[in-house]
Amino acid sequence: TTFEELGLHPNLLKGIYDLKFMKPSKIQEKALPLLLANPPKNMIGQSQSGTGKTAAFVLTMLSRIDYSLQKTQAICLGPTRELVRQIMEVVLEMGKYTPLIAQSAIRDTDAAAFSDTPHLIVGTPGSLTNLIRKKILSLANVKIFVLDEADNLIAQQSLGDQSIRIRNLMPKGCQIVLFSATFSPQVRTFAGRFAPDANEISL
Ligand code: AMP
Repeated sequence: TTFEELGLHPNLLKGIYDLKFMKPSKIQEKALPLLLANPPKNMIGQSQSGTGKTAAFVLTMLSRIDYSLQKTQAICLGPTRELVRQIMEVVLEMGKYTPLIAQSAIRDTDAAAFSDTPHLIVGTPGSLTNLIRKKILSLANVKIFVLDEADNLIAQQSLGDQSIRIRNLMPKGCQIVLFSATFSPQVRTFAGRFAPDANEISL
């Protein structure tokens, strides 16, 4: 498979070529057809870092955004600010040729930063919870919700609980995606609540 064959927008293909990715990695080849399908399907994916999983869900988020609509349409959660930073880097690289407005939300992110409503937000569960509680962030237009490193995230119960609460506020039809390095019994239980009826892929 090539990236062209996956039906990605030319502006996203340009970003991919800048990064010198020649062809989709194994996990991208498995996940992207499912992730990009219409109508959208929930998916849980088992994949370690280093496999290209970040690009898989970032390309999906960037493909689902309507850039003419200045509303938040894609949200990605990660357990740590370091992971949030890394995901945002990939978002900005891949979205380089789109009119994307993206914002990270980590602890201490203040309300003022959100005056220009971002299309896409990457954040930690606590920071997203705050933005929602303060009504700074509306979820009404969110089309895709991704949780990365679920195994690490649920190691802290409060993060898992916050993530489920946010998930339950998502509008009907919102695509739910979860990635985890392992599918331990704990991750499976969590995934059953977070992304019911999900298609499952693993490497
Ligand atoms: P990740 O699994 O998301 O942590 O990505 C691991 C590394 O693989 C990153 O440095 C990416 O830039 C790189 N990568 C992701 N997809 C591809 C691809 N299709 N071809 C070559 N490198 C890639």
